[in-house]
Amino acid sequence: MSSIVLFGPPGAGKGTQAARITQTTGLPQVSTGDMLRAAVKNGTKTGIEAKKYMDAGKLVPDSIIIDLIKDRVQDPDAVKGLMFDGFPRTIPQAEALSNIIEVTHVIAINVPDERIVERICGRYSCGSCGIVYHDTFNPTKQDGVCDECGSTDMKRRADDNEDTVLQRLSAYHEQTSPLADWYDGLGILRNVNGDKAIDEITKDILIALN
Ligand code: ADP
Ligand code: ADP
Ligand code: ZN
Repeated sequence: MSSIVLFGPPGAGKGTQAARITQTTGLPQVSTGDMLRAAVKNGTKTGIEAKKYMDAGKLVPDSIIIDLIKDRVQDPDAVKGLMFDGFPRTIPQAEALSNIIEVTHVIAINVPDERIVERICGRYSCGSCGIVYHDTFNPTKQDGVCDECGSTDMKRRADDNEDTVLQRLSAYHEQTSPLADWYDGLGILRNVNGDKAIDEITKDILIALN
């Protein structure tokens, strides 16, 4: 059993790359952001509590996130390992994860701050299959029609606005970025330049995973 963590600031391309690598590794993609948005949509107790933090661009408390992951690893498809996207985001989350599953590779996708706002503010995704696009950097081939599934149900996230992005970026620097050193200390951190073409980054990640 081997699990992978995709690490990086909001908008680094974690979700974009996860969707591509999952085809090669066969490890299911686990996005805590997607799990939280599903909880908000379903109006669960977790969703109601998490929404306050998400709307403000702050991290959701560790206990909520760790409970979500503990449940997720019970699913039958987790036996071969998982690919985490956007989790862990704090040292306590990483410590909890280390007691739940073995992480063998942490891929840090590095993107400078000045690129983040334009990436996040141009992001949209297919409401049907979840594939992520960008207004200028990665648009659908046909305007408003998903390349993968043909749906015309394109969505933008309420928290993908400039104010919230700046708050999310500061939460990243304060609470999440120290994890890079933490994982480097364990000898499993691999750095990838996330400021180039999407295909190139996918190749670099696959090399880092060897
Ligand atoms: P992005 O892809 O832009 O980084 P996500 O979809 O991963 O955004 O997360 C959206 C929001 O959900 C975050 O701003 C935060 O409030 C919450 N969130 C997601 N994952 C975590 C986590 N591991 N720990 C704490 N909060 C989280
Ligand atoms: P994350 O999951 O890390 O928040 P996403 O994968 O959702 O990031 O990507 C954020 C936005 O940036 C999306 O609109 C996506 O299409 C775009 N994007 C992803 N990778 C790149 C790249 N290498 N160059 C330019 N834009 C990118
Ligand atoms: Zn689609």
